This record gives sequence, C-alpha cells and structure tokens, in this order.
Amino acid sequence: MSPTILNIALDVPLNRTFDYLSGGFDARVGSRVIVPFAGRNLVGVVLAVKHTSDYPVDKLKAVSHVFDDIVFDAASFKLMQFCADYYHYPLGQALISALPLRLRQLKPAVSRKALAYSLLPNVDISQIPAKKVVLHRIITALQATPMLGGAELAFISSSWKKAIIELKSLGLVAEHEVLAVKASMPSSSVEPILNDEQQLVIEKVLALTHSFKPWLLHGITGSGKTEVYIQILRHLLQDTGIDKTGAQVLVLVPEINLTPQLEARFRSRLSQYSLVTLHSNLSESERLQNWLAASTGEAKIVIGTRLSVFTPMPHLKMIVMDEEHDGSYKQQDGMRYHARDVAMVRAKQLNIPIMLGSATPSLETWSNAQKSQYGLLSLKQRAVENAQLPTIFCVDIAKSPTENGLSPILVKALRERLNRGEQSLLFLNRRGYAPVLHCNACHWASACTRCSAKLVVHLSQKRLKCHHCGAEQKIPPQCPSCGNADIRPVGQATQRLEQTLQTLLPNARIARVDRDSMRSKDALTDMLASVHAGEIDILVGTQMLAKGHDFPNLTLVAVLDTDSALYSPDFRASEKLFAQLMQVSGRAGRADKAGEVLVQTAFPQHALFDALRSQDYVTYANEMLHERTIMQYPPTSFFALLRAESNKFIEVEKFLHLAKIAAQNANTNVTIYDIIRPQMERLKGMERGQLLLQAGSRSDLQRLLKSWIPEIKGFLLANKVRWSLDIDPLEF
Ligand code: ADP
Ligand code: ZN
Ligand code: ZN
Repeated sequence: MSPTILNIALDVPLNRTFDYLSGGFDARVGSRVIVPFAGRNLVGVVLAVKHTSDYPVDKLKAVSHVFDDIVFDAASFKLMQFCADYYHYPLGQALISALPLRLRQLKPAVSRKALAYSLLPNVDISQIPAKKVVLHRIITALQATPMLGGAELAFISSSWKKAIIELKSLGLVAEHEVLAVKASMPSSSVEPILNDEQQLVIEKVLALTHSFKPWLLHGITGSGKTEVYIQILRHLLQDTGIDKTGAQVLVLVPEINLTPQLEARFRSRLSQYSLVTLHSNLSESERLQNWLAASTGEAKIVIGTRLSVFTPMPHLKMIVMDEEHDGSYKQQDGMRYHARDVAMVRAKQLNIPIMLGSATPSLETWSNAQKSQYGLLSLKQRAVENAQLPTIFCVDIAKSPTENGLSPILVKALRERLNRGEQSLLFLNRRGYAPVLHCNACHWASACTRCSAKLVVHLSQKRLKCHHCGAEQKIPPQCPSCGNADIRPVGQATQRLEQTLQTLLPNARIARVDRDSMRSKDALTDMLASVHAGEIDILVGTQMLAKGHDFPNLTLVAVLDTDSALYSPDFRASEKLFAQLMQVSGRAGRADKAGEVLVQTAFPQHALFDALRSQDYVTYANEMLHERTIMQYPPTSFFALLRAESNKFIEVEKFLHLAKIAAQNANTNVTIYDIIRPQMERLKGMERGQLLLQAGSRSDLQRLLKSWIPEIKGFLLANKVRWSLDIDPLEF
C-alpha cells in the first residue's frame, strides 16, 4: 500500500507547501505537526492527507510529531488561501502567524481547563490550627461564594496554591474543572425600548440572515448602533439550527482594551451566551484558551481586534465590525491585510451577513453603499431622549493667539466648566512634554540619528526619545552643537499641557491619558472609573480617549492641533481628521447636558469645519469622494506599494529601478509611478524608498502582481534590501 503523505504549511518565506510522510502518526487535515526542516524543527499545519506526491516518495522525510489538536478547519484554509493570493504572501506564513503564540511553539498546547474550588459539605474546620490564617481565609471566602477560581483566590493570598493543596489533602475542598470561558455577568441592565429607526434597521437585517449580505450601519455617535448590534446578534444566537450546535457571532472592534465598556455591555446584555475576547491585552495563555473556545464552537460570541478576523469559528452566522473606518484594522507588517476586506471575503465565503458600523464610514465603504453594493442603514437621531448634538466653534488662533497652546476663549470655557462642576476634555495628539528641544543661538534641534524625526522631550524622565525607533538619551545640559546653555523645549505635548493647565487652574483636578501614563494593564479602566465618579475635572489626552467612552458630565471638548492634518500630503489626511473630529465631538454632551466643542485652528474657513459644525458626514463624504474620483485616487482606483529599505539608499534605488523596469515591461494598463522616498525617509537607521502602482481595477493590478512578484524575488538585489508589498496601502 502506498504510504500516507501529508501536505504541510510551514512558516517559511517560500511560496509553496511541503510533503512529508505521516510516519505512522494519525494526522488529519488541520492537525498541528512538528517536522524536520533544513536542520531545524518547525511547527506546521496539515493542509491535505494524500497518497501521492510530486516529489519522489523515497526522498520524503517523515513528520516527527503530530499533536492531537485540530487548529484550522476547511473554511479557515479557504480564507487564508484567498489572503495569500490577494496579498501575495506565503500561505504557510499567513496561516502560522494567525495562530496564538502557544500554538506556534514546538510543544503541546495544554488546553488547560481552568480549575475552581468548592467547600465539601459538612466539613469540620476545627481541625485547622488557628495560626493557618490563609487556610481560614479561603474557607471563609468559600462559605460566602460556593466556587472560586485561581484569579479570585490570588486576591486572598499569593500562597493560595499551597493552601489549596493542604485543604484538599485535609478533605475539606473539592477541585473542579470549569470552562475557561469566563461566565458572563448576570443581566442587570435594562432593555431600552427601540426607537423607530432602530426598529426598522433590525427588521431589515433580520429579513436576510441566511445569505451573504453586506450592510453599512451609518449612525452618529450615540445613535444606538451598539444597541442594534446586540439585538440583531441575539436573534441570530437564539437560532441554534437543526443540529442544535448553537450559532456563533464575531464582533470586530478597533482596540478593545480602549473600550472596556463595550465588552461589559455585550456580557451583560447577552449573558446567556459564553463570550471570549481576543486582543493584545491578554496573556498568552488567555489568548490560547479563548482562541480554542472559539475554534471548538464553545464560545458563542467572540469580540476581538483585527487578527481575530482569522479565528476559526465553525458555526459563524454573522460578522459585525464596529468603527469600520478605524485605521487599526489594517495590519502594517507581515501580511498587510485589512481586516475589513478580509471580513467581507469571509462573510461571502460563508454566505452570511456582515454589518459595518460607523459614524464616519471610510470612503471605500461609503462608495460601496452609494453604489448599492452594501445595504445602507441610517440612524439619524441620538438614541437617548433629549440628548443634544454639541455646538461646534472654531477658535481662529490667528485672531485670538494662543499662550502655551491655549487660546483665551478656551481658558474661559474651562473656567466656566469648573465653576459649574462639569468636566472638560482636551485633545492633543502628541505625547511627551514638547515635540523638540531647540537651541536659540544656532538653531540646533534634537533629531534622531536613525530616523528622519525629531527627538521628543520627556521632561519628567529628563530624556529625549524618538517615538519611531525608541532611541533615547539624556537631555543635554547645553547645546551639543554650539555649547549655548539656553536650550528650550519648543511646542506643546500632553505633559506640558497638563502642567500649563495646573498652573493656570490650580484648583482643578487634572488627569492625563496617553501611552506614557497608561502603561499598566488596568490604568485606563481605573482612569475611566474615576472620571465617572466625578473625581476628575479636566482630562488631557491623545486619541486614546476619542473612542467609545461615555461621560455624562462632560460638556466641553477642545481640540488643540488639527492644522498639520488639514494640509498634509497624505491624501487620506482630511478623511481621517474629519472622522476623528466627529468622534471627538461625540464625546461632548451625551447625556441631557448640551455639549460644546472648541477647535483651535488657523483655518476656520476650511470646508471640513463647515461639515463638522453641521455634523454633516454625508455632504462632506460625497465631496471627498468626488475629489478622489477627479484625482483618480482610491476608492476609484487601486494601489499597490512596493517598499524597500537598506542602510544604503543606492541599493534601494537600484532594486526599485529594476522592479520598475520589470513592471513597465509587463506592458499592462497599470500605471507605474516614479521611485520616491516616503515622508519618513530614514527609519531605524534604514534608508527607505518606494514604488507605487495604480490600476483602475483590482483584477488588472492583481494580474500584473502575479507575474511581477516572482520576478522581483528573482533579482539578486532582492536579498540585499528589505522589501515588502502593501496592497491597498493606507498611507505612503
Ligand atoms: P452608538 O453605538 O451609536 O454610539 P449606543 O448604542 O451606545 O450608540 O447608544 C448610546 C446610548 O443610548 C447608550 O447609553 C444606550 O444604552 C442608549 N440607547 C440606545 N438605544 C436606546 C433606546 N432605544 N432608548 C433609550 N436609550 C437607548
Ligand atoms: Zn546651539
Ligand atoms: Zn528614531
């Protein structure tokens, strides 16, 4: 009989898969295996089990181990194959990098069920000596709560493990295996009565749940989109199908650690369904547990960030993507996928509905809705009765100059809020103390030697830091160039703003939210809680604060730096700025108090602000779309970007030049631009260059890429430079 041969995907940068003998192991499609490869051991995934090979069978090596976990199903392979083709990325690398870290390692992934403990009935606790305090404390806790897990016991004592072993041996405590999936909270929140708009949206969506149907839910912040998702998903989850397996739903969010409220809301409103999250704030073991719970079908609701779009879910019935315009859905290294596009393909392959929600949809999505490729659903009012839209003012900083970044009008508005006991929020998208250190005598400015960027002043740590490569150094006592002692931080960043405000308003309770102040895991949650508790008067923060938070007592939002984005060379800059400002202004006046938004700008006449003042996304989006059409920019055309870097630009240039000629020789109707340097010419010590390709259709572009990429890989120079391909790049 011919031997069993396994076709295996490996995490190697080659565009092919590999055949191995099964070696007597019982491997199935989707099994994880260990194979010898070029003198190393690698983890692989079985793509197919077969009896023939294009290679001489007697030359094939055997797998050295087969794990008993099945990590991918056929649907996952199909999705990954699409991505590998579309993004021109090796299938094996795409597959393996979608696995949780623990499944990429050369050892069995112990899918440890979590353990929990309970008190056995009728125990005699008098046998425990009084001095065994920890044992007594655990017993007391178990008398109050029938079952406790490790996480809770850790609060009682750090030596809880030892204590539990002792309690077990005394016959006092029983150990149980429980679902690692965290039980949802019991439903406490009340079910709001849907308004007519919401009702209509839900009816339309529920009428078409058994086939592929893309929806755009366009609704201003606070219009009740999340409520709509919850109610639609509940209907789908209730429908367990004929085999009673139970439906699953996937909710994609930009950065869940920034929106703990969303998770809490889903947990409390859909408490009968097990829910797991997948995001970067989890430990590797949590990530593994949650991923496995999703892939076995045990978890019914998965809420996750972009990578979770690849999580196998055998009974997936609908995908919801909240804040679909958010840039964090785009992966910026490795396989540079866009989770929105991948989600769309996944829904199509599975023949299920998908809903994209946003107050400011991306122009890609908006244009699809305009062409009726997506069903357009709108929520035009705020859901909470009496909730008013904020008034938006531009403060012309040419007429009303700022002092330390603050215009007099803004300071006055802050004082009013303080007197009324209301909260304010100031946005400044630069963390640190000041963007640069500058010498007045010779105009030296602190610059990173490895990047085309300035070193940011972090005064509290007395250091200069590059926010691009992480390089840092002490703040020099004098100008390194001319010796002048009078060197100063120039410009505003969040730490300095916090300081300025504190001097100006000494009685105000001020807090800062940025990546520096929010390093620890729970810092943001704690901060949000104290804002809710009314312990903070003024919040200063970066865009970290723009999303999803709901502060009823917040009535003033100020935006301090918009102008660099208004006239940026990035063609998406105004789209991004508009979305950000709409989102930010949605933070003001969510409850019954009217909100006010102040935007400090030197260009108050800009059309973007008109649209913002009237909260008119539609007009502005159509205008931007019109502009893009005239300029032949996405979404009316399609881009692919070849990036290259090396420590010598000449190598980059030679490589891109060869690539350019090869593309031109292919003689297709794809436009090939000149080689240019990106805005950040140097990054982490590497000189960078890029070549942009543009086509009127995806298929034209793909046709060229298909022959071009293998050709590029063949260049000798391809090994001397680091290069990557970005299909549908968000920025360049
Ligand atoms: P979005 O996701 O569009 O920002 P949410 O779903 O978060 O909007 O709704 C905003 C607020 O309004 C929430 O506090 C929510 O509980 C409430 N809400 C939503 N729908 C209704 C409704 N029909 N009646 C009353 N309150 C509602
Ligand atoms: Zn100097
Ligand atoms: Zn740097």
